[in-house]
Amino acid sequence: MTALILDGRALAKTLREELRAEIQVFVQTTGVAPSLAVVKIAGDPASERYTRTIRKGCEEIGIVFYDHTLPPDTTQAVLEETLHALSFDRAVHGILLHLPLPPGFDASRAIAQIDPHKDVDGVHPYNAGLLAIGQPGMIPNTPAGGMELLLRNNIPIKGQRATVVGRSVVVGKPMALLLLQEHATVTIAHSRTRDLAAVVREADIVVAATGKPGLITGDMVKPGAVVVDFGVNVLEDGRIVGDVDFASVAEVASAITPVPGGTGPVTNVMLLRNVLRAARWQGLGVRG
Ligand code: NDP
Repeated sequence: MTALILDGRALAKTLREELRAEIQVFVQTTGVAPSLAVVKIAGDPASERYTRTIRKGCEEIGIVFYDHTLPPDTTQAVLEETLHALSFDRAVHGILLHLPLPPGFDASRAIAQIDPHKDVDGVHPYNAGLLAIGQPGMIPNTPAGGMELLLRNNIPIKGQRATVVGRSVVVGKPMALLLLQEHATVTIAHSRTRDLAAVVREADIVVAATGKPGLITGDMVKPGAVVVDFGVNVLEDGRIVGDVDFASVAEVASAITPVPGGTGPVTNVMLLRNVLRAARWQGLGVRG
């Protein structure tokens, strides 16, 4: 079997066009452009690159971008005050705190300062709680993008067996909850799971979110299964690979996300979509 490639770049392009049109209508209706404030602590090159990508994405689509880069010697108190002030700033609709924070910072206390209605990364416990009880809220962007790839490619989810490998708060766990909302029968596997291969082999939909290059191999995957790979692993030779051994899994799967070019590009658009949603939630337009 040669798997259908679930092309994230193509989907991201379509989603960006749809969002651009929605933002235009929003601006015409409210007279206000949605805005995003990114808060980060200077010094991490990966974080700088990510900020540039987000800024470009915002500017291309009509979202106002505010950069709040704090100096490397910032204290926890200053970080919390910054987030608190942005939460009360009516000109700011979405707040993104770059994670992980440098050692010595308490991410939970910082996140607690973000107004949940501005929490475009879906990391505030309020939004995690809404997702857990199946009510609308801010959904973390990476799993939201994974679901978009499945739904827009008409992959059947209802009644299917799904195994999510990885249980992090930002990827694995919310992805499992989103699949459950779509009526999949969900198993969550992690580093203590016994016989991972057997658990993965049961699944019609396999989701990998571990950060372990090539963990999922072709012999672990049921023929015809759909495979979503969230992994972004940089090898010593500079190549970027997923958590799935693409060559062997593409032989048995019916559909698979490539790395790069799968879940990654869609994640970034989901963030921008959450900014528009945040602006709507703050009474600037229709809720939804
Ligand atoms: P974390 O390190 O927070 O979580 C990894 C999870 O994988 C944990 O639950 C861990 O289990 C589990 N795990 C680790 N090793 C194994 C193993 N051998 N067998 C089974 N489970 C294992 O990572 P994230 O969730 O933040 O990220 C996961 C991947 O997704 C990374 O490659 C990251 O770069 C990528 N990512 C991709 C994004 C995208 O847009 N595509 C965005 C964000 C992240 P345990 O809980 O027991 O420790």
